[in-house]
Amino acid sequence: MSVTRHSGIGMTSERTRARMVERLRAQGIKDNNVLTAMGMVPRHIFVDEALSIRAYEDSALPIGFGQTISSPYSVARMIEVLRGGADLQCVLEVGTGCGYQAAVLAKLAREVYSVERIATLLGRARRTIRELRIGNIKLKHGDGSIGLKDVAPFDGIILAAAIPTPPQALLEQLAQGGRMVLPRGIGETQQMVLIERTAEGFQETVLEMVHFVPLLPGVR
Ligand code: SAH
Repeated sequence: MSVTRHSGIGMTSERTRARMVERLRAQGIKDNNVLTAMGMVPRHIFVDEALSIRAYEDSALPIGFGQTISSPYSVARMIEVLRGGADLQCVLEVGTGCGYQAAVLAKLAREVYSVERIATLLGRARRTIRELRIGNIKLKHGDGSIGLKDVAPFDGIILAAAIPTPPQALLEQLAQGGRMVLPRGIGETQQMVLIERTAEGFQETVLEMVHFVPLLPGVR
């Protein structure tokens, strides 16, 4: 079954992905490890078949429940900032969505934990990740803003949904020397923020304007 699924684009997807990677480079993504990972993950498998033809365009696409798969540039840029040029060990992603970003992260980290509040989306992501035989992602249903206390500390935490202030629980679960990237803000006014935990505390760097769906409380 997985052979026929998305077969139309499947045959050409490698070339299409290579073009996407070149576009990402032109857009300013410099981390070669990130570019390589983006070139490996079949983005079209993560979206509805009717949209798979558009999977490699630089846009966010609907995945149901009013949510979106982030654009290739957003995913690449967030992960580039998260890595800061260094290898990642244990990463927490808040907002699995379709699982695409988690799959890219899985190429760059030893272990990826990803939490999603919408059970149906999580179920679909689980199937896709199983189909692609990615072994180092653990998916959890829950409110990601409280993190995963039992697994912490994380050397990387990445939020795929925007919030006015970084959740305290996530700051506490960041390892010393760890990096957290989040879209901070409300509505149209959001900025990507990097928070680094040092021996002295938390150091913040404000980066470019971004646009993400909001982080919401509770589960459904
Ligand atoms: N990383 C995803 C992007 C999904 S969009 C991808 O690659 O497709 C952001 C996701 O965050 C949505 O699926 C939304 O349901 C989820 N989300 C929002 N608030 C959340 C919360 N508090 N805990 C967990 N997931 C949340």
